[in-house]
Amino acid sequence: MPTDSRLPGIDGASNISGPPIDGPIGQALWARADAVLPGRAMFMTRSARYAGPGVQPGFIDAAQGCRVRDADGRWYLDLNCGNGPNLLGYRHPEVEAAARRQAEQGDLMPYFPSAMVDFCERLLRWSPGFDWTLPVKAGSDATALAMRIVRAARNRDKLVLFRQAYHGNNAEQSLRHERHPAAALDNLYRLDWNDPAGLDAFTAEAAEQVAAIMLNPIDQPSGVPASEASADFVTAVHRFRARTGALVILDDVRSGFRLHPQGSHRAMGLDPDLLCLGKALGNGHAVGALLGKEPLRAAASSILYTSTYIYSAVCFRAAIATLDVYERDNAFAAIQRAAERLRAGVLAAAGRHGLDLRFTGPATHPNVLFADDPGCARGERFAYEAARRGLLFHPRLAWFVSAAHDDAAIDEAIAIADAALAACA
Ligand code: PMP
Repeated sequence: MPTDSRLPGIDGASNISGPPIDGPIGQALWARADAVLPGRAMFMTRSARYAGPGVQPGFIDAAQGCRVRDADGRWYLDLNCGNGPNLLGYRHPEVEAAARRQAEQGDLMPYFPSAMVDFCERLLRWSPGFDWTLPVKAGSDATALAMRIVRAARNRDKLVLFRQAYHGNNAEQSLRHERHPAAALDNLYRLDWNDPAGLDAFTAEAAEQVAAIMLNPIDQPSGVPASEASADFVTAVHRFRARTGALVILDDVRSGFRLHPQGSHRAMGLDPDLLCLGKALGNGHAVGALLGKEPLRAAASSILYTSTYIYSAVCFRAAIATLDVYERDNAFAAIQRAAERLRAGVLAAAGRHGLDLRFTGPATHPNVLFADDPGCARGERFAYEAARRGLLFHPRLAWFVSAAHDDAAIDEAIAIADAALAACA
């Protein structure tokens, strides 16, 4: 996310000379939305406006597999995956059948549904090494809960986060877009990403007060190149924990299920005390989770934690089915393969047109940006030319690949990207 108060795309002038992607129904919806929604509060990165005026369709009303349909009835091949959640394909038949079966029995009911225990057990089997889990509705809930638990466990206030990392929608988790009370951020240190020496130097300075380090597997702010955690940096995180007693929280909300089939920490060589999941866990159903180790069970038990819809049963059945299908079908390998084909095909097309396009971060959810395009004007043009031809991706946010992106879909995406790049060249 950008750190200043201006948001590119939303505030900028249009780079697009052609007609907007929205048809008449989409344009009428924008007018109605602007009357009833406070624009910027809602229209941050999840709004098509963040892609630039007229670049992407504003309203999507149907989705199936790897395709989505806008309010005007036009279908697109989609590389947004709902900003990550679509892991197996939109409306995956087995996930939806499990959700429907539970919905017919009841969703939100008094006390706990048995689906919740089934979900917790299933999730702990997915990634051995954790001993308990707390279900939540969103990624922000998982990271907020982790921050509370580490503070309770260590009886310390301070947290170390990394410079541009986004961890959720509250003051401490997000970057400053608004006026927060200064005290809300007093207990955060924001250090440089992938800087083991900086972390080592900080150990002596403030270590005794730090409850935890929270990190993402990848430094992936929008609109700039992404960077994976280096092995030296991961070693420095472990060293910081050993020297200071601070805990380690991995925010796997965005990368989870797309970097390693059993959690991104395994790809990174990181041994986290707490793991935060969201997004892809329910294949689009609103469910997330915090996973923790035995020594933190008591601290987790000491936290007052409740919220009306945490106990909804449908999303637990959807998440169980998602994990079952993901493991049974080796969806991770399919996503990886499709993503690598997509990257190779799009890069080859860019080379043919003499364009310096770069994929940074993992192939399964890369930031795809032109060199020397800091405001993403060229990226907006590429996204627009692709959308006109039936392919959706965001010029500033990660592209995401799902298990529903089969060979034919990837070939189609490459062909459309090729034509869109030709129009940009
Ligand atoms: N952490 C990371 C790394 C994220 O990308 C996000 C969402 N973009 C969150 C936390 C917050 O998740 P949610 O939007 O589901 O609250």
